Amino acid sequence: MPAAALSPEVLAKYEPVIGLEVHVQLLTTTKAFCGCRNQFGSEPNTNVCPVCLALPGALPVLNEKAVEFATLASLAINCEVRERSIFARKNYFYPDLPKGYQISQYDKPLAENGWIDVPTADGETKRIGITRLHMEEDAGKSLHEGFGDSATHTYLDLNRCGTPLAEIVSEPDIRTPDEAWEYLTRLKEILLYCGVSDCNMEEGSLRCDANVSVRLRGADKFGTKAEVKNLNSFRHVRASLEYEIERQIEVIESGDRVVQESRLWNAAEGRTYSMRSKEQAHDYRYFPEPDLPPLIVSPEFLAETRKKLPELPEARRARMIAEYEIASRDAFTLTATREFADRFEAAAKNARNPRRVANVLLSEVGGRLKALNLEQEQSPVSMTGIVLAADLLDEGKISSKQLKQLFDVCFEKGEDFPAVYDREKPQQLTDASAIETMIDQVIAANPKQVEQYRAGKKTMAGFFVGQVMKASKGQANPALLNELVTKKLEG
Ligand SMILES: [Zn+2]
Repeated sequence: MPAAALSPEVLAKYEPVIGLEVHVQLLTTTKAFCGCRNQFGSEPNTNVCPVCLALPGALPVLNEKAVEFATLASLAINCEVRERSIFARKNYFYPDLPKGYQISQYDKPLAENGWIDVPTADGETKRIGITRLHMEEDAGKSLHEGFGDSATHTYLDLNRCGTPLAEIVSEPDIRTPDEAWEYLTRLKEILLYCGVSDCNMEEGSLRCDANVSVRLRGADKFGTKAEVKNLNSFRHVRASLEYEIERQIEVIESGDRVVQESRLWNAAEGRTYSMRSKEQAHDYRYFPEPDLPPLIVSPEFLAETRKKLPELPEARRARMIAEYEIASRDAFTLTATREFADRFEAAAKNARNPRRVANVLLSEVGGRLKALNLEQEQSPVSMTGIVLAADLLDEGKISSKQLKQLFDVCFEKGEDFPAVYDREKPQQLTDASAIETMIDQVIAANPKQVEQYRAGKKTMAGFFVGQVMKASKGQANPALLNELVTKKLEG
């Protein structure tokens, strides 16, 4: 079947067209339409009541917090929020859905016409349209494994029934698997910043289906699409899209037609499979949910919710790049989570030079963490320690070489910077005449560089500072050394 046979030339003839549907569980304390706890990992069938078990006569009552979270998410992805949206019944029969329908929204969803910007490989940004965000409830879970009689029986856990979801549907604006990965990464980041979901993919809080088709480059019409379901990591999304794009091109190249269908991703085998035709022949027979009134989002509620929007990651990065004069790549590191960005900024505010805090954090601490394959939370050096180190550096009380040595000790012994600094208080050479003697020696040994400096290449001063610092074993007071080097070279 796929696709090693396809040459790059053949692949290049086609353009993939991708749209993503993302389901996120909202982080409410209780479920969407009843008072049951909305909690992952409870004993099976303990967070249930007549409403979410669909017992006759039980009626749903909408959770206001779920509306607030869905509205907040809508605003964060630049959607227009509809003042009056309608809940609808989506009918289908499945063992984990005791009602026989899911409460969802259909032709009048909560929000429409949004977008998010994603970075592209060439350093630009691309705007991906968002068709809609609608509210719905989750179904329960069928347990096919883990029991003695699993070969012949399926068990049901209905704890998840009625968990509030937001479904976010993108426009078919995505053109590569990498772009899909970026879109999901940015979307997840926005939702996490808003605090509306924990987006934990292992626990199913964020799930993705991908619609993908291919067409000849330059063609106006979209090709026939397949929907790939069951994608529970971004890596799987990317891998399944890569597979599916090549599969469809191969089908077309061999003279066949792509069939519109749902397909399942099998991560172990690295391929997609067609689902049974019965599964795909859905007619959901949507109609307005008679047990719920229209959802009214008043201008006041909308305004109140808008006030709860945090500074979103992209805006925060732009501000931090300007404020701390850091590179875009570093801004991404610092804003990886809202909590980390908050901690950094709170610390930087109290430092002599916030930019230096960023540099120490990213290069000295970040570099060591990366080398040791550790996460930020596993760093022995606290944010307080980083600020102290940056301040000492800024005041010239330690040299950057001494800072590196102290951080080496921190990471070797698993100790924070203030403790290590207190104990090891590095010696500093502040005797001007001793430093001058060393400068004289370096100047005498490097006549060519002196000539360059005096011919106008002022950046050469850094060379002399570096050489003297090395000669002093990193102990020369940096501020004094700088001053004396300039004096000598000018003299
Ligand atoms: Zn319930």
